[in-house]
Amino acid sequence: MKITLSKYAGFCEGVQRAYEMVEKIASDPTVKRPIFVLGSLVHNIEVVTKIESLGIKKIEVEGELVEFFKKIKNKVGTLVITAHGMGPEIYTLAKNYEIALVDATCPRVIKVQRLAKNFSDKNFQLVLIGEKEHKEVVGISQWGGGKAVFIENKADLKKMHLNPKLPIAVLSQTTQDQEFVQFAEQEILKKYPEAQILDSICLATHERQSEISPLAKNNEVIIVIGDPASSNSKRLFEIAKRSNKNSYFIQKAQQLEQEWFSGKKTVAVTAGASTPEWIIKEVIAKLNCIKTISLA
Ligand code: SF4
Repeated sequence: MKITLSKYAGFCEGVQRAYEMVEKIASDPTVKRPIFVLGSLVHNIEVVTKIESLGIKKIEVEGELVEFFKKIKNKVGTLVITAHGMGPEIYTLAKNYEIALVDATCPRVIKVQRLAKNFSDKNFQLVLIGEKEHKEVVGISQWGGGKAVFIENKADLKKMHLNPKLPIAVLSQTTQDQEFVQFAEQEILKKYPEAQILDSICLATHERQSEISPLAKNNEVIIVIGDPASSNSKRLFEIAKRSNKNSYFIQKAQQLEQEWFSGKKTVAVTAGASTPEWIIKEVIAKLNCIKTISLA
């Protein structure tokens, strides 16, 4: 059985950067303790567990951010903002409550946040193509003044109603399905031809999504490695499934099933931007064992 590994499998630049920042502060005695990450550094349970082993725990914001800061005052030394980013309020609150911030927001997300702010300052109506509950989307929306119209699916497009007298700017979640984003942009332009469309899908997403369709067509089995909480991993799986029904989504090597490969000669493996290299290596090693067993 021939095993092809995607060129882009595993941590993207933004996730790698965030992970390295956390590793660095974990061994830096000058960083105020205790250190907490605001949510999961990446949507991958294995990575979160590894970070916890470095003495850095995860903390979730429940309710209003200001109430959260009141609660953690004098209990938290440093907060880490994940690659997904946060709204602007956190920077002022951290200063006021004397909690140090380590900002691991991906530079590509920062770019979209800045665009949202600039458009909002110029009184544009902001349309955000993305999952409205997703942390990155919530943050971008807050940078845009918290009034964005969210487009998550075709139903949202149908019921979308914008004020035609105001200028419109369209941004998207960096990890959205590019096929859906292009479709949504065309639909928006049909209704509002003057809308300004800004391509905000990041390069890492674009490369992975562009690669997966040919891989799915040219291989008998597709394995997508990711965490169920990772939207970019789930999206890769959805795209693979469109071209190849023998596509499987797994979190770790132990979930591979021998029968998926029975009589198959080719398998391609890809992984979401939040999947660490060590899990990919374990999957490849297990596939090599399956290959050996099949040939025996
Ligand atoms: S997927 Fe793109 S935007 Fe998101 S963290 Fe990775 S590089 Fe940054």
